[in-house]
Amino acid sequence: MAADSHAADTGSPELPEPPQGARNLVMVVLDSLRHDSWLAAEPKTLASLGPVERRWSYATWTAPSHYNLLMGLLPHTSPPEVYASEYYKEDFRRYGERLGIEGMEFKRMLPSIFLPTFLRHTLGYRTHAMVSMPVLNQHTAINRDFDSYELMPAHNDMAAMLPKLEFDEERPSFHLLNVGETHYPYALPDEDPSTWPRISGVHGVFKRLEDASEDQPQPTEPREFFDQAKMGELRDRQIRAVDYLDGVFARLFDLLPDDTWVIVTSDHGELFGEDRYFGHGPIMHEKVLEVPYVEGRVP
Ligand SMILES: [Zn+2]
Repeated sequence: MAADSHAADTGSPELPEPPQGARNLVMVVLDSLRHDSWLAAEPKTLASLGPVERRWSYATWTAPSHYNLLMGLLPHTSPPEVYASEYYKEDFRRYGERLGIEGMEFKRMLPSIFLPTFLRHTLGYRTHAMVSMPVLNQHTAINRDFDSYELMPAHNDMAAMLPKLEFDEERPSFHLLNVGETHYPYALPDEDPSTWPRISGVHGVFKRLEDASEDQPQPTEPREFFDQAKMGELRDRQIRAVDYLDGVFARLFDLLPDDTWVIVTSDHGELFGEDRYFGHGPIMHEKVLEVPYVEGRVP
């Protein structure tokens, strides 16, 4: 693939023969998407996968949340009176159904406890990632045991990922897609960046992820943080992004091989002014952990 892809084939031992009937797995992470933004958008194509659940992320921002997802631990249901170890075991066991394989249990994930490692070296999958957020770029620690791993040129263009999706005839494939239209500034790919909404300070943080050489101090004096009308506008933009992405999912589902298992979720939620918070990250709030979750065989 592209020059920034990470080729892991060289020098690695021969991949095992995949189990008979093992399914492709596609995990799509709609970055920063709130559960209630999904509900408000009423995405019809996504609804065809199954009923959307309200779940909880293990982390409030992109990097730890994606590491958690790649451990195979999906957003949780927060069940009372259940030991954590039992919940984890059950979540891992569910990969038997997702992948269409026999004998799935937690100890098969050991010692790495890393989904791409397990899929590639134990089950013989091809493993690929396309990410939109610079904090997940190919030089980070989560790029491990992927056949290809690419930071997309634009942070907000899921449609640009579709022609790059590869499925091997001989082996099942795993794809991680980190999608950025739902991330601040909730911009659709055809939207002129000069018209994006600007929030003082926040945009600067986002830009700095793209340009590590820029290092300006943040203002420390108290100021007007935001106005609620602006927050409502931003929330509407995230809902609109889901509506747009639903059309991209229709195209994605058309090109996925039959029987592919699809998971669509978010890495964390987003605050639009609740309790004077905006965004996600260093925020302890229910709405930044609440995420949408749906999975099923491609319709
Ligand atoms: Zn994120």
